[in-house]
Amino acid sequence: MATLQQMGLTQRQLDSHWMAYTGNRQFKRDPRIITHAQGNYYFDADGRKIFDGLSGLWTCGLGHGRQEIVDAISKQASQLDYSPAFQFGHPGSFKLAEKITEFMPEGLNRIFFTGSGSESADTSLKIARAYWRKKGQAGKTKLIGRGKGYHGVNYGGLAVGGIAPNRALFGSSVDVGHLRHTMLPENQYCKGQPQSGAELANDLLDQIAIHDASTIAAVIVEPMSGSAGVIPPPVGYLQRLREICDQHDILLIFDEVICAFGRLGYKTGAEALGVTPDMLNMAKQLTNGVVPMGAVACKQEIYDLFMEQGGPDYMLEIPHGYTYSAHPIACAAGLASLDLLSQENSFERVREMAPVLEHAAHQLGSLELVNDVRNMGLAVGLSIAHAPNEPGLRPYQIAQAMWQQGFYVRYGGDTIQIAPPFTVTKEEIDSLFNALGDTIQNLT
Ligand code: PLP
Repeated sequence: MATLQQMGLTQRQLDSHWMAYTGNRQFKRDPRIITHAQGNYYFDADGRKIFDGLSGLWTCGLGHGRQEIVDAISKQASQLDYSPAFQFGHPGSFKLAEKITEFMPEGLNRIFFTGSGSESADTSLKIARAYWRKKGQAGKTKLIGRGKGYHGVNYGGLAVGGIAPNRALFGSSVDVGHLRHTMLPENQYCKGQPQSGAELANDLLDQIAIHDASTIAAVIVEPMSGSAGVIPPPVGYLQRLREICDQHDILLIFDEVICAFGRLGYKTGAEALGVTPDMLNMAKQLTNGVVPMGAVACKQEIYDLFMEQGGPDYMLEIPHGYTYSAHPIACAAGLASLDLLSQENSFERVREMAPVLEHAAHQLGSLELVNDVRNMGLAVGLSIAHAPNEPGLRPYQIAQAMWQQGFYVRYGGDTIQIAPPFTVTKEEIDSLFNALGDTIQNLT
């Protein structure tokens, strides 16, 4: 293993960085330093080649080191490195906004730029509340999320999120309710969308019965939950949510930070699953992960209301935005990435490879420690049987052992998550799952 010195790092440098979502103490004892990346592979400080089994963090479906993106951001940086996000514009943001609308469901044609998935979550929740206020229904403030939901780490997204360890330390400062998650025991080992469970959408009726629709602004769900371990929605579930939202004047927000731009084999999860939300949050694959950027696509009616109710036209229609909203370099990365997705027919390729991934993943279903296998598009979640009193231990051990063997997979809670680049081959899928199967078996 490379020493710190060989990595070009000092202990003081290692200690200075409080790493995000990382066991800092363990990491700093045994650093996993990635030095470069190309195609579907990372390379570490030991010069080892490691297959990228999660496309970065669900970000890099096009693979790494794409020259078209490198050229676009480098050209943009030399031409216009930054321009103020407030009160001024640059050509790239308008071009990218229009390009994004080509990927969105019909009608979601107004794009608000953010810097991340968390910022997209909070932006959509704020727009929802402000929308009802502008409509003269200021009482509609409650936000409804779902168990096992992940909407990032800012206060709005955290409050509607449904993964307890993420929330427990911070409290909830926003008025929220939650639907139950859709992971039913009878759907264990189901391939793709489970057939049963659509009725769980009626939990929204329970929320309405308790709180009254006149107090509810919006419901936010991931069409397919990613971070909780890949939970595809039951057939008909999202359709039923849409129906209830329409009947009770509640906005429906899809958090597609993972689903948008191909993960499910379609432009969006909305397209894959046949349901159109009122707002759609995106990030990650928007720039192939190369530059941080997020966005919220809104139905035109929402935008129009803000314009109509905006007061004198020198006034802000919504006092919201970020210094890095529509950053020129992120816009350049976004334009190049979306072009590549189209040129390479990436969504078709995901649809072609999804059955290969499904087959490989479900072969692990018979292992003693694998309690469930779920999949959709190019995404797989395995639930791993708890070690006594330590639900997170085995997934951590599995991911560490996989890293040692040259495969990066993600662990979270009691799950292992796999989401290879859209450019993955059958051989890469087979070798990853062979290694994973052996690793899990060796734990018993
Ligand atoms: N929403 C969803 C559905 C996500 O999967 C994520 C990240 O994984 C986020 C929001 C948060 O995104 P970010 O980490 O860019 O803030």
